[in-house]
Amino acid sequence: MRVVTRKTNLLGLSRQELEDLAEAHAQPRYRGRQLYHALYARRERNLAALTNLDRQFRAILAAENEITYPEIQRAFESCDGTIRYLLGLSDGKSIETVYMPEEDRVTLCLSSQVGCAVDCRFCFTALLGMQRNLSAGEMLGQVLAVAAARRIPHGARLNLVFMGMGEPLLNLPAVMKAVRILADPQGLGIPLRRITVSTAGITPRIPDLAREPMRPKLAISLNASDEEQRTALMPLNKKYPLAELLRVCRAYPLRPRERLTFEYVLLEGVNDSDADAQRVAALLRGMRAKVNLIPYNGGPALPYRASPLERVLAFQQILTERGIPAFIRISRGQDIRAACGQLSLEGADATAAREAGL
Ligand code: SF4
Repeated sequence: MRVVTRKTNLLGLSRQELEDLAEAHAQPRYRGRQLYHALYARRERNLAALTNLDRQFRAILAAENEITYPEIQRAFESCDGTIRYLLGLSDGKSIETVYMPEEDRVTLCLSSQVGCAVDCRFCFTALLGMQRNLSAGEMLGQVLAVAAARRIPHGARLNLVFMGMGEPLLNLPAVMKAVRILADPQGLGIPLRRITVSTAGITPRIPDLAREPMRPKLAISLNASDEEQRTALMPLNKKYPLAELLRVCRAYPLRPRERLTFEYVLLEGVNDSDADAQRVAALLRGMRAKVNLIPYNGGPALPYRASPLERVLAFQQILTERGIPAFIRISRGQDIRAACGQLSLEGADATAAREAGL
């Protein structure tokens, strides 16, 4: 019987891990640094082509290892230029990554888990349940796969938001490992100020993020103006109440000119009244914060409707009058189900979905 041994994917290994790998093959540690630069800064995918490495080392590397990105299975293109990518992972599971081009920059919305355990009532991803955490390599792979597909050059202005499938603070070690490689000038070279991690409010993990020496920006999914309303929309509020979440946010060590971002999905007749806006302003009073107002992206499977534009504008006005900067974020790619809270693996072919256990 022929034994098939799987190669190890080097994507996701840190500089130190690659130096250790070089050393384990009796190579100087700087060979590991060369490999790191090739993987992330030069985005090489063919180990045999790394001619600056010692020939013997290269041959051993290529025999035992590989550099593989998640496979683009489908791409759904919106009339506004947004593209929702369905990416296949090595175990047959699927995730989604969204590409959003703007005039002078591109934003990528990344997944941190397959599915999500948090169960926000207005979110399609919640309907999938939790499948598993993504590795750092699978998060880096989303950036590299889409950058290759869209021919985004190294050094182009790229914003990254961990707002796709999953709750990043429930997979914090892997998210931070990916962030360190993303932000490293010898890695993918994306400045930390262009990387945002968004949480539904996993309160105990927020101080952990605050202690990270290389820290991305933080966004918090607020979506309600009091405890009862938030528990109805986001059942995790029972475990991590709003009052405690805001206490932790007030203690968060912001850098000069940095603000916390609070995301607020506006649901008609649920959380969009003048009284809600007044309560949100009171909750955030004195905090260095801004609010992104996101009109809901409705769908047949969920019982909510988007707030009308005049309601969104009135909500914004109440916040700004009370000194809270508030911005309306019209979701991109609504026609291809790529907007906030819409990621649901819709369009995954039947086999991929079955294999993914969805
Ligand atoms: S909104 Fe985010 S945290 Fe909430 S269920 Fe959806 S993916 Fe999970």
